[in-house]
Amino acid sequence: MLELEKIKKIIIANWKLHGSIEFTQEYLKKLSFVGSDKEKILVICPPSTLIQYLKSENFYLGGQDCSNYSSGAYTGEISSELLKDIGCTFCLVGHSERRSIFKEDFKTILQKIEKLIENKIIPIFCIGENLQQRKENLTYEIIKDQINKSLPSKIDLEKIVFAYEPVWSIGTGLVPSIEQIAETHNFIKKNIFNNTKIKIVYGGSVKASNYKNIIDSDFVDGLLVGGASINLDEFNKIIKF
Ligand code: PEP
Repeated sequence: MLELEKIKKIIIANWKLHGSIEFTQEYLKKLSFVGSDKEKILVICPPSTLIQYLKSENFYLGGQDCSNYSSGAYTGEISSELLKDIGCTFCLVGHSERRSIFKEDFKTILQKIEKLIENKIIPIFCIGENLQQRKENLTYEIIKDQINKSLPSKIDLEKIVFAYEPVWSIGTGLVPSIEQIAETHNFIKKNIFNNTKIKIVYGGSVKASNYKNIIDSDFVDGLLVGGASINLDEFNKIIKF
């Protein structure tokens, strides 16, 4: 299994529900990340049917979600076993779009994380507050609750990546200040886990024009990029970190 502790910065691309086989082939031709530096890695999370077309030595593959079941009569589901089988090293879990649109609850997210760990896939566990919660100063409480209710109690913290994604920042163009991001990451590392080695990436409206400050922060272990990851004019600049 990939040793996360040796990696300094991780960039994760979340294509969401975008792409096609043709798009994937073009993307591979134009992507300028060369994965020779093992301290910096790139993870690409396309829609599941495109994973097989994205094999490359330069980056890792990730699912955008997985089932909380392993197999059986669960029409439409994709298990972590299947993601492993097709070559995924990572998988997003608990993304705010899954929580809000698909009504994923804390328990389902917990079960998904357990399945991923069982199958030696590194979960990218998305957490973060919405705008109302931020305005009411509830950010830390919300994050603590999300972690307490969905993180398996016996998890090895070196085998998971946290993604701090303020819901109000995803796809909106609004980005917290670097101080706010650093404070929140610091809170998770120090106050919740008392472990500064855990990996936390930031996600929410990252673009070529704002990524540098964020990725350069000592409190930030990488970026989760949605919209800008499918625009290679933008993304090729971001991955030159
Ligand atoms: C995301 O999908 O996790 C995300 C951060 O999206 P965007 O970069 O478009 O805000």
